[in-house]
Amino acid sequence: MLIDTHCHLDDQVFDADRDAQLHAALQNGVKCIVVPSVSKTNFNAVINLATHSSHCCFALGWHPMYINQAQSNDLIALKALVLSQINHPKLVAIGEIGLDYFVTKENVTHQHLLFTEQLKLARAMQLPVILHVRKAIDDVLMYLRRHSVPGGIAHAFNGSLQQAQTFIDLGFKLGFGGAMTYTRALKIRALAKVLPLEHIVLETDAPDIPPSWLLHGEKNTPSELYQIASVLAEIKGVSIEQVIAQTGQNAMQALPKLASLCTSLEVAH
Ligand SMILES: [Zn+2]
Repeated sequence: MLIDTHCHLDDQVFDADRDAQLHAALQNGVKCIVVPSVSKTNFNAVINLATHSSHCCFALGWHPMYINQAQSNDLIALKALVLSQINHPKLVAIGEIGLDYFVTKENVTHQHLLFTEQLKLARAMQLPVILHVRKAIDDVLMYLRRHSVPGGIAHAFNGSLQQAQTFIDLGFKLGFGGAMTYTRALKIRALAKVLPLEHIVLETDAPDIPPSWLLHGEKNTPSELYQIASVLAEIKGVSIEQVIAQTGQNAMQALPKLASLCTSLEVAH
């Protein structure tokens, strides 16, 4: 099953054509789209989107790039919101959360606090996490060892094979998307080649990380997932059917609530 495990379909750049983009993605074989939140500004948007679109589900969390706006009472509000939504069949994870040292390290203490609190929340709620990790893999791994959560996905993974193995040992799948489609992305492509397919999930991260075939500035959409899957199939020398079947299973393993959602979609078709 073709599952986009990371897509910001609630982003305002899709305001004009969201339904059309969703329809196009389904036409292109995508069966399910995971829409993570980034801050309190879009908690309701991702909940509403998932509630109204049978093929979308959602995650709740504060993204590290947006945490400068987060006050301590916002964290309390997030916890209350997750608690109120915990039985929502489409709340599949806490996310996206993590650490980002690429943009700035000035707020690192605040980042660590928010990340730790959200890991504790995931553990208390027994929800997996969707991780954003940039230039901060070792610190993220340190916190994951300290606050064990029920696994999840390291989105847009860009680390070493050894770091990948550590995430795998902690119960995580690794997200691959547009970055892998560039022939000059030697490191990511080498990693995609050697990592067993059992550990990989697919994502577009739309509207960000456009794949190589989109012209400069063109917005990325979830419809690109099929072609991203075919790039992975080519890199690994396996069939696209195998990639779609296995990565779909992997996504449901990483985000267990996806499994019943996807089963009901199968029945409905
Ligand atoms: Zn994201």
